[in-house]
Parts: sequence; C-alpha cells; structure tokens
Amino acid sequence: SSALVWFRRDLRDFDHAALFHALKNYQKVFCVFIFDSTILDALPTRSDRRVEFIHGSVLELDAALRVKGGGLIVRHGPATEVVPALAASLGVTAVLANRDYEPQALARDAEVAERLRLLGVSFADFKDQVIFEKSEVLTQGNSPFSVFTPYKRAWLKTLTDFHLKAYPVDKYAVHLAAPAAGETIPTLAELGFTSTNLGELGIVPGMAGGRKLFDDFLKRIARYKVRRDFPAVKGVSYLSVHLRFGTVSIRELARAAHAIGGEGAETWLSELVWRDFYFQILWHHPRVVGVSFRPEYDKVVWDDAPDLFAAWCEGRTGYPIVDAAMRQINHSGFMHNRLRMIVASFLTKDLGVDWRLGERYFADQLNDFDLSANNGGWQWAASTGCDAQPYFRIFNPVTQSERFDPDGVFIRKYLPELAKVPDKYIHAPWTLPPIDQKLAGCVIGTDYPAPIVDHAKARELTLARFGVVKGAT
Ligand code: FAD
Repeated sequence: SSALVWFRRDLRDFDHAALFHALKNYQKVFCVFIFDSTILDALPTRSDRRVEFIHGSVLELDAALRVKGGGLIVRHGPATEVVPALAASLGVTAVLANRDYEPQALARDAEVAERLRLLGVSFADFKDQVIFEKSEVLTQGNSPFSVFTPYKRAWLKTLTDFHLKAYPVDKYAVHLAAPAAGETIPTLAELGFTSTNLGELGIVPGMAGGRKLFDDFLKRIARYKVRRDFPAVKGVSYLSVHLRFGTVSIRELARAAHAIGGEGAETWLSELVWRDFYFQILWHHPRVVGVSFRPEYDKVVWDDAPDLFAAWCEGRTGYPIVDAAMRQINHSGFMHNRLRMIVASFLTKDLGVDWRLGERYFADQLNDFDLSANNGGWQWAASTGCDAQPYFRIFNPVTQSERFDPDGVFIRKYLPELAKVPDKYIHAPWTLPPIDQKLAGCVIGTDYPAPIVDHAKARELTLARFGVVKGAT
C-alpha cells in the first residue's frame, strides 16, 4: 500500500510526525509540496522573503529526500484541487500531513479531506509543530487557559520525555518512493516571484540555516535571560522563521533547552511555551482573528488616522526607537521582540490606531509571521487580549529606548541621520538645542522628523479612550 505525505510548514526530513507515520505504515511513500496559489495570489507583492525562504527550503528538502531514495514532488496551484488530483494519479490510499491550527488552513484541510474521501482515500493529520496542542493542557476545571503563567506551570507539569522524543524517520526511510523521472521544481520566477534581499541579509533557508542558528544560539543560551531585551545585542536565537516553516524541530529545541536548564535555557523554554500558548488560544478561540479576545474591548473607538499610520509604517514618527524598529522590519522582515512590543504599544496607545491595522502590517512584513503569535502579541500590546497588559500601563517610548538601547547603538544602525546626535539626546532628539542640532548635522523637522505626537497628551487620550470599557482593568 502507498501513501502521500503533504508537506506544508514542516520543511524537514527528520523528526517529522506525518513522514514517520507514513513510512512506518506504508510500503511506498511519496512526498509533495504545493506552492498554494490560493495563498500566493493573496500576497501583496511579488517580492516576498517568505516565498524565497520556502523555495530555498523546498530545494534543500528535495535534495535531502533524494539522498534517502525519495524526493519531493512540487506543484503550483490550489492545494484543494492539487492534493486530491495527485493522490488519484499516484493511486495512494492515504494522505498524511502535520496539523495546522489556523482557521483558513483548517477549512482547507477539511475540504481536501472531503474530496479525498469521495475518491476513497483517507486523510490523517498529526501533531507536529507544537509540544502540546488543543486541549492537552487544561485548567483543573477542564477549560482552556487564558492566562500564561498558570498555563506554563501546567505545561511543565504535563511534560515528559515522551513529548520531547524525536520521530525516528530514518529507521523506515527504505519506504520512500522517488518522484517520476522528469518531475521538476519550478523556479521562483516560474512561480511569478522575484528574489529579495534574503541572501544579502544572511538569512539561510532550510534545515542547514536552522541548524547553524541553533548551534550558534546554544553557545549563548546561558546568557539569554540577561541579554534578550537589548536589540543591539546578539541575545536572542533568531530561529522564529525556522520555527514558522518547520526547518527546525520544536521537539529538538525544547529538549535541548530542558536538558541544559539554568536561568537562560529556562527563560528560553518559556518563550517556546508562549508559542504553544498562542496556538491553543487560536484553536479554542478562532474569533480572535478580527475581534478582541475580551469582547468588551471592541467598544474602544480607535482614531481614523491614515497619516499617522503611514508615518508609523515608514518609520518617521520622530521617536527614534520606533522609527529604527520600523526600518528594521521594512528592511529585513525581522523585528526584535522588545521592539515589537514598543511599536505595537506606540501605534495603539500613542497614535490611537486600531491594533488590527498594525497586525495586518506585521503579517505582510514579518518573515516569521504566524497568525497565533502575531495576533496574541498585538492584542497583548493593545490590552484587548488574554493576559493583556492593563491598558493604563502605557509604554513610554523614550524611557523604553533609554533602558533597552542605552547608547543608541541600535537606533544609529537604522537611522544614520542621527549618527552624530550625542547619546544623551539620542532617545528624544527634539530636546537637543537648535545650535547643537546644526552641529550634529541633524536639524529636527528637516533632517529627521519632529515627534508626530506628544506622549504625555497621547497617554491622557488613551486613558480616556479605554475609559468606555466598563470595569476595564
Ligand atoms: P527568541 O527570543 O529566541 O524566542 C524563541 C522562540 O520562541 C521564537 O522563535 C518564537 O517561536 C517563540 N516566541 C518568543 N516569544 C514569543 C511570543 N511572545 N509569542 C509566541 N512565541 C514566541 N512571533 C512569531 O513567531 N511570529 C509573529 O508573527 C509574531 N508577531 C509578534 C507581534 C507582536 C506585536 C509581538 C509583541 C510579538 C510577536 N511575536 C511573533 C513574538 C516574538 O516577538 C518573536 O517570536 C521573536 O521576536 C522572534 O525572535 P527569536 O526567534 O530570536 O526569538
């Protein structure tokens, strides 16, 4: 009997749940990746780092599977049609895939499963991209958690070595079936996309890229807790894009962090738990896509301020830490976590713009865009979500900047116009006396924008704005 493994956001040939189950249970296992036109056609540009990342990862995965006697069949078209058609033409009896938790993906999978059923082909999906999914970690009252700290406690309590164990794919690799001769992989151009600055940024796709980053991070993991909040310091792992596309295994990462222990590794493991946390929130509450987790917060009236929003997107708010962060995301598709919190707070609490606009902008820009974490992060910052920061705790962009980029190293990297502004003024350059602005070659209002809002006034407006929510905390 034969089966087809459908790769999606799990672009690796090791420790892979669906591949393992297929190889173990079927004599002949084909592998497919589909450049889903339903997803690609909806992207706002034809130059997208993620498409290039996926493309590079697909080429690598094909080569790796070929070494083992298999290979990847690659198609371009609507997945809901391509999968059943391919299953029929290959004559397989089953299609296996790793589970996806996003509402659109669930709808797609349900449609594929139904079409396969009509063909007499089974569809099975497996937990792979998280340690715990759905209702595996619940409160004592058997309901889903909506607060992180008790969720994490329960997550750690539930964890056993079994949950961290790798799927031994190689043990059954003899069952891999090679694609038919003449199968080719479309180029990026054939998919209708152009290449980006991914290579220039040093972002290496695929398992090799993930491995390199993880090896490098393991040397620094002990210092993660003390360094992770400083964007100018190499303190974090930069593995998010690899977690997004499954070029690393979550089990391997969590296993290593768990085994190493100590404050650095434990703090990092906590971040992986946040990832599971938001996946289960999305699973239990798919409505968070579009509305506030706490519905009463949808009473908050946001400002219609396209000019302010454009200034935020383009990194010209006059607040250097915000502008440097926005230029980082625009240039690279990455933004440091501390900065994501600062700019999200700034958009919602200083500019009074709806968090959904910021969420959408991040979704278009981030290489690591994940609906669950992005929505969770935005709702947290806007104080509309589960476990949100209370609305009256409003980040001050200047003091955040002083704390987390004290010498302005990060700011100067992305805002060269501020290169000569003295450290003391780098966080609020408008306070530099005009004569010194001239000396520093940075006249505010000419070489760099004056602040588009006054933080103290904006803070008062935000407190009033949230006041409409009765009993708001
Ligand atoms: P590390 O610090 O090395 O953390 C390791 C991994 O843990 C990350 O790769 C990520 O998978 C996970 N993780 C860390 N923090 C979080 C978190 N708060 N929530 C969920 N998972 C987390 N992360 C995304 O992966 N995709 C997103 O679209 C996304 N959008 C965000 C939007 C906002 C407004 C905020 C505040 C945060 C967002 N995050 C998102 C979380 C976090 O900023 C990134 O995961 C992190 O910056 C990625 O860098 P890293 O891999 O070096 O992280």
